[in-house]
Amino acid sequence: MSDIEIAQQAKMLPIIDLAAKKLAIPAEHLDPYGHYKAKVSLEYIDSLRDKQDGKLILVTAVSPTPAGEGKTTTTVGLGDAMNRLGKSTIMCLREPSLGPCFGMKGGAAGGGYSQVVPMEDINLHFTGDFHAIGVAHNLLSAMIDNHITHGNALDIDSRRIKWKRVVDMNDRALREITVGQGGPANGYLREDGYDIVVASEVMAILCLATSRADLKERLGRIVVAYKTDAVTPVYARDLRAHGAMAALLKEAIKPNLVQTLENNLAIIHGGPFANIAHGCNTVTATKAALKLADYTVTEAGFGADLGAEKFIDIKCRIAGLKPSAVVLVATVRALKSHGGVAKADLNNENLQALDAGFVNLERHLNNITQHYGLPCVVCINHFTFDTEAELALIKDKCAALGAKCVVSKHWAEGGSGAEELAQEVLNIVDNREPGCSFVYDDQLPLWDKIETIATKLYGAANITASVKVKAEIQQLQQQYGHFPICIAKTQMSFSTDPMAKGAPSGHTVEITEVRLANGAGFIVVIAGNMMTMPGLPKVPAAERIDITDAGVITGLF
Ligand code: ADP
Ligand code: MG
Repeated sequence: MSDIEIAQQAKMLPIIDLAAKKLAIPAEHLDPYGHYKAKVSLEYIDSLRDKQDGKLILVTAVSPTPAGEGKTTTTVGLGDAMNRLGKSTIMCLREPSLGPCFGMKGGAAGGGYSQVVPMEDINLHFTGDFHAIGVAHNLLSAMIDNHITHGNALDIDSRRIKWKRVVDMNDRALREITVGQGGPANGYLREDGYDIVVASEVMAILCLATSRADLKERLGRIVVAYKTDAVTPVYARDLRAHGAMAALLKEAIKPNLVQTLENNLAIIHGGPFANIAHGCNTVTATKAALKLADYTVTEAGFGADLGAEKFIDIKCRIAGLKPSAVVLVATVRALKSHGGVAKADLNNENLQALDAGFVNLERHLNNITQHYGLPCVVCINHFTFDTEAELALIKDKCAALGAKCVVSKHWAEGGSGAEELAQEVLNIVDNREPGCSFVYDDQLPLWDKIETIATKLYGAANITASVKVKAEIQQLQQQYGHFPICIAKTQMSFSTDPMAKGAPSGHTVEITEVRLANGAGFIVVIAGNMMTMPGLPKVPAAERIDITDAGVITGLF
């Protein structure tokens, strides 16, 4: 059965009843969106301020391969299993983007018998948050061109506008465009471009904001352009755009509550890219979950070098969160892929390749335990093609490193298939003080922060940059030296070359561009070619998606 077929057979409970029963949330603090989705009021979350926080567990993975790893599936399966063991647990996930949904990756609501539902709604529009983020972003874009048209009192250099437009669709034709065509009535002609909504700084801001006031302040300090002197920034607040942007985000700031196939609660809120942004759900959602349940299981995007690093060095640092443990998801197929096996051959036993590809897991594991200072359980997300010999090999290699390793069957069996994983996680988090170490100090200069990430986590020998980029980093150092770093590099490799599988070391990380995300409060460092507006593949998933006369969606996966 496909993911969507399984999801459509779910026996969902009305979300208001479920929230009352499991979390004692009063109905007046929930805004229902139909029967199975609801937004939680900020006032209610705030009223829990003095409650003790639950334990926070991060699910991350080895470097992604075309084989797929299953972080979301594992987050849901682990959460369901913990609930089965009688532990009050909430899962916190990111909202899916429409782009990948119609492209290659498909939906992002888990898989098999570990999914969040209603799957179609979560994948398509959901509660409209991404729409609101896109509109808030584009309002600012419109106000920039409008300001220039009406005399440009702020002296904006139209060649130095840093704020593009966004749409939640993979549409490569929009990457570079010209605006203002058609004569004086339509403003001034200039080059512009589109990013996908998940790459918008508004998305990153919404995900890091801790209150409506903080949201508005962050929106106001977005740097949209530079003046004709080339150095003086123009802020969104100079255009007086931030109030209206925050107004458009009135509902989007509230976390969305849904349920799993097993009727446990999950919060799905926010969804920034894990390269150009920090790749995890909102701080609001995580903080709410920690107050509402004893345990929160959350996911960070891509592999542990990108998602987990940013979860810790950006999100936990900024929001003061203290994780208790990490689950590192690996699959036999992914490790064989890291060992050099082609996609078509991944379902055949190959112990030699598995042995060779294990280095990828080992590097991530070491990073988590040594550089983040967190205990880690390796979860082998079981595929039906895995052989006993392959599973035994990974277990043996983990044991040799002194690491806990569990084979988990939640994709096929739901929460019952992940009980051993849940027990291992509980043994750890119930027996240690929450908290982790950061990979670098706030005080370290920006250049050194980047170098620390590259050498400690990526195994690089050094970092390089052109004279121009070095000068830009030097310039940013003066005012923004205390900001954390958000590295945008390929998710496929520890290096900047997506083809370098396994655990490459001694490489050079070339920084091609730096961008200030002043509203989000981090410096984006681009290493290699980074796509902020993806394209659709030759045969997009959209060709298979349909709706029946009865209104049932098919072909979404
Ligand atoms: P990630 O969050 O790491 O991107 P997902 O959990 O979204 O990965 O899973 C990606 C895809 O892989 C989903 O379509 C899911 O159904 C599938 N998948 C995950 N785990 C398994 C498994 N154990 N066996 C088969 N398919 C799986
Ligand atoms: Mg995912």
